[in-house]
Amino acid sequence: MSFHPASAPDFLPREQMNALQLDRLQKVAQRAYTKVELFRDRMRGFDGVHSLPEIADLPFTTKSDLRDTYPFGLFASPIEQVVRLHASSGTTGKPIVVAYTKEDLDVWTNVMVRAFAACGLTRGDIIQNAYGYGLFTGGLGAHYGAEALGATVIPISGGNTERQIMVLKDFNVTAICCTPSYFLHLLERAGEMGVNIADLPLRAGIFGAEPWTDSMRARIQVSGGIRAYDIYGLTEIIGPGVAIECEAQDGLHIFEDHFYPEIIDPDTGQPLPEGAEGELVLTTLSKQAMPLLRYRTRDITALIPGPCRCGRTLRRMRRIGRRSDDMLIVRGVNVFPSQIETALLAVEGTLPHYQIVLTRDKGLDQMEVLVEVTSEVFSDKVGALEGLHDRLAAALEHTLGIRAHVRLVGPQTIQRSEGKAKRVFDRRNLA
Ligand code: ADP
Ligand code: ZN
Repeated sequence: MSFHPASAPDFLPREQMNALQLDRLQKVAQRAYTKVELFRDRMRGFDGVHSLPEIADLPFTTKSDLRDTYPFGLFASPIEQVVRLHASSGTTGKPIVVAYTKEDLDVWTNVMVRAFAACGLTRGDIIQNAYGYGLFTGGLGAHYGAEALGATVIPISGGNTERQIMVLKDFNVTAICCTPSYFLHLLERAGEMGVNIADLPLRAGIFGAEPWTDSMRARIQVSGGIRAYDIYGLTEIIGPGVAIECEAQDGLHIFEDHFYPEIIDPDTGQPLPEGAEGELVLTTLSKQAMPLLRYRTRDITALIPGPCRCGRTLRRMRRIGRRSDDMLIVRGVNVFPSQIETALLAVEGTLPHYQIVLTRDKGLDQMEVLVEVTSEVFSDKVGALEGLHDRLAAALEHTLGIRAHVRLVGPQTIQRSEGKAKRVFDRRNLA
């Protein structure tokens, strides 16, 4: 098996990786301390980092630090050296602004090349980049990575689904980048247009920016006739390219020569042992314009111990099933949208489109789950629908431990998204 030259750091022996990390950690902590007021204030008496475990003595950074210093307060480089700005999509409030020097953009491109290479893409691949171009990091991040890989990039951006399908088909596209929910939408529209995506040369999807489950992956791989890879990233740290699955599809390799991962207990902030599930905390080891120390991502995962079949020595994390802040509390019970997705997709006859609506009736929480069903089931006699309804309700109650109202709806009734899907509608405070 041959590897892309940029992938060399993916295979560094552990001691070399740790030495590189410590060297970079010392520099980035020093840079943050010297150049950024917020870090200087929090790191009084800072006298260097002497070992990797000492990272735990550095202060955390949070999303509200980025909001409080909006727009430029965390920059460590003068504006003359900042060559790009991006902003987060603001899923959870006011957007935050991030900056890149020329070196930062080179790092970003480098990790994206390694990300594409890890899932088997190479020169000669034709990559349709359907992530949104603009302030959002997805479009440009994937674009420059794919170009530097030597692949052919189609910078189509998000939206205009029919044109996406035409291009997919006419340009012999071999890989697509978009959110998993948008790819589902493409599959469906293609079907209506008489195009079977599984018959096209398309062989890989690089899907990220939102949580999705292994059951969703199974559906996508079968109906699309492709391999679907999970890519993870966040604006604050760099954008897409923090971690990606390799061809083993068994956890996401973290590009830990640039992003140092820790797992902490989200309630106490204490570091957790390897293998334990908790909140992912990331330190940018090489960022110039906006170094972040111990950034609390609020994404919940675990580091996977042991080597990967692909031979990469980069540590792996489990796919992100949830954020520490997407937990719903329904009648006192903790519910995560990913649990609902897994329960629904395990039942035959459902489509991977659903919505969760929470309301309050006489002080009591009500949860309704709208699920699309296949047209065969939907047009069948009432009996089939009723049976499916009961199976879904039972599956949900079994998984969640509470009862949910299930409403079966016909294909195409739930709104489709071009970017991140919105699946939870919490109307409890509106009543
Ligand atoms: P925001 O959505 O907060 O405005 P971003 O667009 O940078 O900002 O999104 C980053 C967040 O998106 C991550 O912290 C994570 O919650 C989610 N995310 C990104 N990629 C994935 C993925 N592959 N799986 C699950 N969640 C993801
Ligand atoms: Zn691997």
